[in-house]
Amino acid sequence: MLRDHCGVVGVAAESQVSNTIFNALRMLQHRGQESAGMAVHAHDTLIHKDMGLVHQVFNPTILEYLRGTVGIGHVRYSTTGGSSLENAQPIFVDTAEGQLALVHNGDLVNAQQLRDHYKTKGWAFTTTGDSEIIIRLLARYLADTHDMIRSIRTVMKEIKGSYSMVIMYNGKVYGVRDPYGIKPLVLGKIVDGHMVSSESVALDLLDGEVIRDVMPGEIVEVGAEIFKSSPGGAALSPAHCMFEWVYFARADSVLDTKLAYEVRRRIGKALARAAPVDADFVVPVPDSGRAHAIGYSYASGVPYAEGLMKNRYVDRTFIMPSQLSREMSIKLKLNPIRPVIEDKSIVLVDDSIVRGTTMRQIVQLLFKFGAKEVHIRVGSPPIIAPCYFGVDIKHRKYFIANGRSVEEIREILGATSLRYITVDELVEAIELPYDHLCLGCVTGEYPLPIPGEKTRFQARLDSFRQE
Ligand code: SF4
Repeated sequence: MLRDHCGVVGVAAESQVSNTIFNALRMLQHRGQESAGMAVHAHDTLIHKDMGLVHQVFNPTILEYLRGTVGIGHVRYSTTGGSSLENAQPIFVDTAEGQLALVHNGDLVNAQQLRDHYKTKGWAFTTTGDSEIIIRLLARYLADTHDMIRSIRTVMKEIKGSYSMVIMYNGKVYGVRDPYGIKPLVLGKIVDGHMVSSESVALDLLDGEVIRDVMPGEIVEVGAEIFKSSPGGAALSPAHCMFEWVYFARADSVLDTKLAYEVRRRIGKALARAAPVDADFVVPVPDSGRAHAIGYSYASGVPYAEGLMKNRYVDRTFIMPSQLSREMSIKLKLNPIRPVIEDKSIVLVDDSIVRGTTMRQIVQLLFKFGAKEVHIRVGSPPIIAPCYFGVDIKHRKYFIANGRSVEEIREILGATSLRYITVDELVEAIELPYDHLCLGCVTGEYPLPIPGEKTRFQARLDSFRQE
């Protein structure tokens, strides 16, 4: 299963915002389950953060304590910096210019260089995350400029990578999106104020409405009554992470004007057109393959059926391989529904395959339960390269598609047939131009320079240069 980094939210309103942020974070819980946190500003900045799910971290007493009309919130899954309370967000510093708090979704690709550089200048860091680097730089430039927008701009010139972040400074909230718009960030209106959020679903819950996406490279100052936009730097060709539509975002979220559910259905339809099967049922791998499978069924006319029952109460961290057989551990998570499987030819649909271990086990299980044929259809192209922007696909050696043909992968998985969506079909399903997407992990070409990797629009690897 792929994991994303974080979800962020920022609110400015006429009334207290802690309940609003709490509810928004609950809607963003799928983006991170390790820690949650909130900072609000009244006369002072008040913060609460802890390890756990949103409803475990906050309770009515804490929300009552967090009284303020502006605030920011965060849910976290760590891909860099480790899983510990010290890396939970918001991160906060008290400076001569005022109080600064920050939440961040993404990964900086030059974090280590910045950290090493500033250590030689005498800086000491108390966390291992990227966000501390950003807030320390902001504090430094604020001391020089006394101007938040100018300071953010200067920081944006120095940091490279993916970042959708929300900053709270002396009672003001700023939403900032990196110049490529890799991670999502949407601006919306709520009843008595404005909100920025990783996904539009947070606005749906609050009866709010989307105003628009924060543009790549844009800084938005969010006020209760108005919002102000400022350019953060040179406009670059956008590179929205394609996996937001394929898997990460909730299906009911609209990202950069495209509803994730519809994109997933279009992917399924494209797979049905490109790789039809005379099968009895289209079966999703729950929950991630569901919308893709519905699209496949719709376009092919093959009936959709739930053939695998997901156990929602099993946390993968509590499954000890030494205590369970492989088959038991997969059945604990996904148990076949026999009448849908036995003597049937199945089209099995999932969003992606990273290592292939789980998919192989599912295929074995389906055959054990009497499936005649198992045809795998996959909603993303083969993952062949790492993500440097905050998704936990880091090492080529673990990818089943690394250096293997589709036929070799099919053989390892034990499936009757295997078809991935192609890059072109995926781009068509998202309905954005190829040049507006990050496809780094499926093409090996990244939107910004990564040492040793090919950059988008770059003809040859040896022409690499660090910006
Ligand atoms: S490399 Fe892949 S997972 Fe990472 S941002 Fe790009 S498309 Fe998304």
